[in-house]
Amino acid sequence: MEEDKNLCIVCGQPSNEIYICRDRYNYVRCRYCGLVYLSPQPSQKALRNFYNTAYQVDFLRYKKSILKKAERFLKEISKFARTGSLLELGCSYGFFLKKTEENGWTVKGLEWSGEARDYAVHKLRLDVSAESLLELTLTQRKFDVVTAWHVLEHLADPQEELVNTRKILNPKGIFTFTTPNIDSLQFRLLGNKWEWISPPAHLYMFGLSSISHLLEKNGFEILKLETRRGDSKGLIFQYIQWLLKMIYLILTFPFGEIFKKSRLEECKILNDEKHGANARKPSQPVKYVYQTVGERVLYFLTEVISTLIYPLRKIIYKNNLGPEILVIARKVEKNSI
Ligand SMILES: [Zn+2]
Repeated sequence: MEEDKNLCIVCGQPSNEIYICRDRYNYVRCRYCGLVYLSPQPSQKALRNFYNTAYQVDFLRYKKSILKKAERFLKEISKFARTGSLLELGCSYGFFLKKTEENGWTVKGLEWSGEARDYAVHKLRLDVSAESLLELTLTQRKFDVVTAWHVLEHLADPQEELVNTRKILNPKGIFTFTTPNIDSLQFRLLGNKWEWISPPAHLYMFGLSSISHLLEKNGFEILKLETRRGDSKGLIFQYIQWLLKMIYLILTFPFGEIFKKSRLEECKILNDEKHGANARKPSQPVKYVYQTVGERVLYFLTEVISTLIYPLRKIIYKNNLGPEILVIARKVEKNSI
């Protein structure tokens, strides 16, 4: 069963205008604050099933990318907070936490994937648990900084998570995170083919306006809000990859199957009946760039082009059109909200 949820979590207004369709999933856009969200929202059971079967984090690529940006994130954080205690929501294998610990912080992570958590606990010897943020708030433990890299868009209730984040922070504590930018140039040009339109993993897609509203509503003062390339593969790479995929599909199209269409349809119906709502095929995770030689070459070439057009990209990011949003916010006291 799927729960219908048509009230915007940021402004509470109803919305049912379909904005994006992908793999039989629909996203609606709130016409008041611009929040884009999956509607109806999948049930917790369907999500668990999806994360256990179809969703994967590429270990090597993740390690490489997080280690590269950890230094930069820590530098950004140090502008607003002294070295103290840090909690990472959705810390995955724990590479960012390890780097943070090496820099003198006391760290703690929350991770729901058993495989990633085991690695963080046993290989990296980190304090990582599977409890929810709400459960952690009950322990009365407090942190100076909470981080969440590409996590907010996956949460069933980001509003509740912000309430709990505020609770777990020390006075004037810092909450910093990254999330895809639905108002980015990449989304405007690629539409539902954009790499980060990935239902049902991404339940909420924020823009600068909706994320600012959500933070302010929950007692946070924004210290830094910018758009950047972040974890994106880049516009040119995604365009060429899509084009190559189309060529491949045309070249390998099984023309003979056209005449067997009725039989295929029959099989599909039987399959749907057999597996119920979960038979809906989830969006397959895009194959990562390091997986094949062809993709590596393509990635290298588009990186060269990206470097050459860096001044142009900088203008795009300055105009808040970059694919990723980076936020640094500070908890403010209730009476000053
Ligand atoms: Zn709204």
